[in-house]
Amino acid sequence: MAEETMPSPRRQKPVYRFAPSSNGRLHLGHALSAFLNHDMARNNDGRFHLRIEDIDQTRCTPELEQAIYDDLGWLGLDWEEPVRRQSQHFDEYRASLDRLIKADLVYPAFLSRGETKALVRAFEAEGNLWPRDPDGAPLYPDIDRQRPKAEQEALLASGRPHAWRLDMEKAIRATASPLFWQESGDGETGLIEARPALWGDVVLSRSDAPSSYHLSVVVDDALQGITHVVRGMDLFHATAIHRLLQQLLDLPQPAYHHHRLILGTDGRKLSKSEGSTGLSALRAEGATPSDIRRIVGLV
Ligand code: GLU
Repeated sequence: MAEETMPSPRRQKPVYRFAPSSNGRLHLGHALSAFLNHDMARNNDGRFHLRIEDIDQTRCTPELEQAIYDDLGWLGLDWEEPVRRQSQHFDEYRASLDRLIKADLVYPAFLSRGETKALVRAFEAEGNLWPRDPDGAPLYPDIDRQRPKAEQEALLASGRPHAWRLDMEKAIRATASPLFWQESGDGETGLIEARPALWGDVVLSRSDAPSSYHLSVVVDDALQGITHVVRGMDLFHATAIHRLLQQLLDLPQPAYHHHRLILGTDGRKLSKSEGSTGLSALRAEGATPSDIRRIVGLV
């Protein structure tokens, strides 16, 4: 494993990316993220990439992808071609997963979502509190992690559908020293200590999706030479998982900037189904790109 190193001042051009998922229409929160990345690249003589995160092939569609290009083009942004589309790179994510399998840092997980939910429900029905991750999702039960190797292998050989999950405790032990990231965003800044243990055994691939967000985002950021990750505050805590995976896979670490979120009138994070804050709806109502800049607080 690589030794923990702090990001060094880089002499190369800074490289930024905006990485939306093509599973819904872009809203004001995406506009803020895209503008920030684009403007920082322009102001720092850097490069700006667009990446389409479409590993969820059941919800991502070519029409929604086209709508992303249309919305960003309308906002006046331009990005380097070709656009990286995650669905075209499953082999690269698999190669990284194979490294972790070889290093015995992941295990096959056979519980379905329904089975996991039932376990949590039964446990909580007795008045206990099942541990949850920073997003409030229950941590994965340890049944599969504790399964004897021979049984794991028999289940794999039988063709039983499975995910691959990181053995979080082992992975943290493998990195030896604490991990940090450099943060310059709208919340806590400076050197932040990564606490990946809060997330439990995160999923790295599923039977119906050959890679997870966490795995593909670190592989892509490295392959695209991203030096600065600028994204919403909702991904602040997940950065701990990304730092851990970068360390385990000997990938360079970018600097991070987690920006404020644009909240809906109910005070909650915007969702892709929120029509009134959708960029295409605002455009249809006659908003201009400078109106959008103003609405998201970037005048
Ligand atoms: N694809 C993620 C999203 O749309 C963003 C991932 C990232 O910027 O790291 O929320």
